[in-house]
Amino acid sequence: MTHEVHSLRQQFPMFSGPNPPAYLDNAASSQKPRRVIDRIQRYYEKEHCNVHRGVYKLAEQATSLFEDTRKNVASFIGGVDPREVIFTSGTTEGINLVANTWGDTHVQAGDEILLSISEHHSNIVPWHILAKKKGATVKFIPLDENLRLDWEEAQKLISRRTKIVALAHVSNVLGIIHPVKKLVELARSVGAVSVIDGAQAVPHFDVSMKDLACDFYAFSSHKMCGPTGMGVLYGRQELLDAMPPYKGGGEMIAKVTIEGASWAELPHKFEAGTPHVAGVIGLGEAIDFLRSFDRKAAFASDLALGKQCFEGLKGRKKIQVFLQDVNDWVGILSFHHTSIHPHDIAHVLDADNVCVRAGHHCAQPLLRSLNVAATTRVSPYIYNNESDLQKFFEGLEKAEKLFAK
Ligand code: PLP
Repeated sequence: MTHEVHSLRQQFPMFSGPNPPAYLDNAASSQKPRRVIDRIQRYYEKEHCNVHRGVYKLAEQATSLFEDTRKNVASFIGGVDPREVIFTSGTTEGINLVANTWGDTHVQAGDEILLSISEHHSNIVPWHILAKKKGATVKFIPLDENLRLDWEEAQKLISRRTKIVALAHVSNVLGIIHPVKKLVELARSVGAVSVIDGAQAVPHFDVSMKDLACDFYAFSSHKMCGPTGMGVLYGRQELLDAMPPYKGGGEMIAKVTIEGASWAELPHKFEAGTPHVAGVIGLGEAIDFLRSFDRKAAFASDLALGKQCFEGLKGRKKIQVFLQDVNDWVGILSFHHTSIHPHDIAHVLDADNVCVRAGHHCAQPLLRSLNVAATTRVSPYIYNNESDLQKFFEGLEKAEKLFAK
């Protein structure tokens, strides 16, 4: 174990004490470092207050903490204007927000929404709902034989009818990094807006909105060492300004009369009601944590574990790893066992305190295109070590013995 992994791992209470879990389900959610847990506790113990309301010191302090975090997020995603940072409950809400506001305003009958086949259901279902309501069509870019986005097909599928192009930055099943920048440019060339699902990207590497030049980008705090129920939607100011609000309520208004209401300025127009203040402050702490070490080195270490896992599974009888190479990849690995169901593998591993995910990973269209109903997924992160991987392989061998026919 490198020094970095060792010292990072020590900061996570989940891994202290005897028999810590070999937690390899980080694509579902990451564990939390002590400083994030403590920060949230301190907020509730000594700093809690509603925000943007009270005029007393405690309330002003809570508001400052909340708005300072917005600035922190804005800088973390490449130095955007803080007004372009909308706090949400997660990636799912961010994408639904765009579908229900920009989508509802601009998508008409006959229009098309272009996705990839490897999207998470969060980046499919909101578009299905919108398309059904509007009489639009959802189209899917297939993957090529290397499981990369089929670029030729993408170019064929996109047209002036395309109003929205929505794509995961990183696939939650295959771990592949999609060529987002290229697709954003393609979307722009036909006048479509781009919506990027960054749920699996932000936990692993730095992202820059300026570099990607996308219109919207959504991600979740809980996959990047922050609290659950918290997320971010970045949107280009010009688009956000022109969009109607998503939810109505307190905080998102400029004025309410018995006849109607007018909307607050950005970003508050999209943040109706009392926000998840503790979640915001916890996310800020998670960002500070992620910035407190060499992220590239940490990423290299979790990627190395992913590669070891890929190499260890690739040559095995009865196992299909789908991926042929691990270029442009974050280390998330799904595999199919020809004679053991993923749930059985996961249960046998669980008996030895090894946590992996088994199922369709909320990506049924992708799994159908891979001709499987479920896979087992191993997703290492910055605090995993070789011992975790060794326990996984030992558990897999146990499962193979147990289910040998
Ligand atoms: N998109 C991707 C690629 C994901 O992996 C996930 C969660 O697993 C989501 C979206 C949904 O994220 P959340 O449940 O935090 O809203």
